[in-house]
Amino acid sequence: MHCSRPSQQRIFLPGLSLHRILRPLPRYGSRVHAEAEMNAIQIHETGGPEVLRLAELPIPEPGLGQVLIRVEAVGVNFIEIYFRKGVYKAALPLTPGSEAAGTVEKLGPGVTGFAEGDAVASVGVLGSYAEYALVPAAQLVKTPAGLSMEQAAAAMLQGMTAHYLAYSTFPLKAGDTALVHAGAGGVGLLLTQMASRLGARVITTVSTPAKAELSREAGASDVILYTEKDFEVEVKRLTDGKGVDVVYDGVGKTTFDGSLNCLRPRGLLALFGGASGPVPPFDPIQLSGKGSLFLTRPTLWHYIATRMELEWRAGNVLDWAAKGELRLRTEHLYPLTEAAQAQTDLEERRTTGKILLEP
Ligand code: NDP
Repeated sequence: MHCSRPSQQRIFLPGLSLHRILRPLPRYGSRVHAEAEMNAIQIHETGGPEVLRLAELPIPEPGLGQVLIRVEAVGVNFIEIYFRKGVYKAALPLTPGSEAAGTVEKLGPGVTGFAEGDAVASVGVLGSYAEYALVPAAQLVKTPAGLSMEQAAAAMLQGMTAHYLAYSTFPLKAGDTALVHAGAGGVGLLLTQMASRLGARVITTVSTPAKAELSREAGASDVILYTEKDFEVEVKRLTDGKGVDVVYDGVGKTTFDGSLNCLRPRGLLALFGGASGPVPPFDPIQLSGKGSLFLTRPTLWHYIATRMELEWRAGNVLDWAAKGELRLRTEHLYPLTEAAQAQTDLEERRTTGKILLEP
């Protein structure tokens, strides 16, 4: 079942596109790769990117309700960094990752609706930094024709996050004004596209002029360089002192206070992440003083909790991507063996759009 991969792989780093021959990496165990084994990334202890190590593991057998997929593209997400550092707790050793696209290899008992060879994607993969992985069938969707595996992996987690934020957490309509932090990031670019398509005016924050350009291309009407200017002052100026209807904030620690101050009375702050760190403890009385504001800390899993909701969001996002109505940036492509570099680049703000690993 193991398929060998060419030793020459393409990698794309910010601003670079190059070919190189990969040197074999140190791994757990030095045996010849056996037939029923696969390459995977494992973490044996929490820490920096160096704890991400290559390992040879048995290809897992699908259990009741599970599907074994051959992973073709792995989505890298911030949550894996939180787990690696121990901010979120998980049992060790751990194969990181929950997002992937690939092909159905084997069905476990009781699985219906899928067949071997189907092109599929999921955000519920049980360790996607690997050549093969198990997925509960309930969390697997088929990908539409015309969509590459890279595009499917790039669209799923950040696309469905943007979808629930724009369509459910604060359902946007024409005439609304939204502030989106990290507008050139993975979620940021997709959320900006969806929000502007819904008719909202989108103001974004980014750290560099190059990111500002990308954010504008995605549909932002105003882009604030929050590393140079006080975004709160700028938002007030851009809205004639009124404030915005909603702030979508995945940056957290460094933006939280300013985000609350940018809202109109009864506006909503959707704090959906903490790329700059967790927000310190907060007294809810502040919401009253700042205009009877709403604060929510949403998570994707609660917005795809039913099969119907998963199919709605994944269906929309994958369809739009296949038709070119949702533009994906997939230029940050690394071999699986470079998982540590991929996470470092994400953590150090060097990326825009999606980061993918190729097993
Ligand atoms: P991004 O591609 O947006 O990367 C994070 C961006 O945050 C950076 O590129 C950077 O943009 C900005 N940033 C600001 N300050 C910092 C800092 N100190 N360190 C690192 N980055 C910083 O990542 P994703 O799109 O994958 O995720 C965005 C956020 O959404 C994350 O917090 C993630 O955890 C969260 N998330 C939440 C989900 C949910 O359901 N709750 C689901 C998916 C993601 P710039 O350089 O322009 O400032």
